[in-house]
Amino acid sequence: MRRRRAPLKACIRCKALSPPYTQVCPNCGSRDFSEEWEGMVIIFDIEKSEVAKKLNISQPGRYAIKVRA
Ligand SMILES: [Zn+2]
Repeated sequence: MRRRRAPLKACIRCKALSPPYTQVCPNCGSRDFSEEWEGMVIIFDIEKSEVAKKLNISQPGRYAIKVRA
């Protein structure tokens, strides 16, 4: 079975996932991205999300669990 890679890259600083054409991370403004990331969480409600608190996320969106720089 072939695995399809999600066409997203992860911000190294805040782990937010963005489409490949993104130049600047919409979450933290960083320009450092990595295509080596694992696991995805989707945060809808920052206030109610334990994951968001744990990962220090302040904006709703898609985030990688692990990012390799
Ligand atoms: Zn970022």
